[in-house]
Formats: sequence, C-alpha cells, structure tokens
Amino acid sequence: MPHAYDDQNIFAKILRGEIPNDTVIETEHTLAFRDIGPQAPVHVLVIPKGPYVSYDHFAAEASEAEIVDFARVSARVIAEAGIGLGEGGQGYRVISNAGSHGTQEVPHYHLHVVGGRALGRMLA
Ligand code: C5P
Repeated sequence: MPHAYDDQNIFAKILRGEIPNDTVIETEHTLAFRDIGPQAPVHVLVIPKGPYVSYDHFAAEASEAEIVDFARVSARVIAEAGIGLGEGGQGYRVISNAGSHGTQEVPHYHLHVVGGRALGRMLA
C-alpha cells in the first residue's frame, strides 16, 4: 500500500505557517523545533519539509539532498544543545515513532532528539 500523506496534520500546518512553533534550526529542506510537551531538558523535533509520513517513507523516497540535510540538521541540534559525544556531552536518544504499533501521533515523519538527563531504558 502506498504511503498516504494527510496534509491537514499538525506539522503540515506548522510548515505552512498556520500554527506557531519554537524553531531551533530551519534550512531549505528541514525544520527543527522544540517539542510542545518536552519529556526531558532537551526535546527537539526534526522534520523534513517534504510530505513524508514515516521513517521508512522518508528513507525510501526522499532525495539525497533532503536526507543529507535532515541528517546534518539533526547533528547540529545535538551539537548546539551540548549533548553530543563530540562536544563532550553525556549523550542523548533519537526516536522515531511510526504507525499504530509505534504510537505515532502526528503522521508527518519526525525525529525526536531527547537529552539533558539520564533517560533510562526505553526499548519496550
Ligand atoms: O512521535 P509522536 O507522533 O507520538 O509525537 C508527536 C510529538 O509532537 C509529541 O511529542 C507532541 O508533544 C509534539 N507536538 C508538538 N507541537 C504540536 C503538536 C504536537 O511539539 N503543536
């Protein structure tokens, strides 16, 4: 079944400027903004600007330029938050929920970058 993108999802509205967000980094292909309900001192969402639903959709169908930009913005979020190992930080977790089993709430692909405290095990 092809990936069906719902352009009324809340991140699509953020990308169209219909809903405000607390932007951390914006580039041609990618937006990073603070999660409205942070689960840790650092909780940033990184989203592609293109209409992708999930990690597998993005990884399979996005252009190389989009994928590289997304990865680099994610790395900048981690570095600028001071949680990256390359900056002497104490680490972080990146998570992407997909679909009902993955408990995805917003059907626009996003990476959660979470850190700033010890996170405990979360591989349930
Ligand atoms: O991965 P999942 O789809 O469950 O997560 C969606 C995330 O989007 C939640 O962490 C929620 O707090 C966040 N959110 C947000 N701004 C909104 C709506 C949801 O940061 N306007």
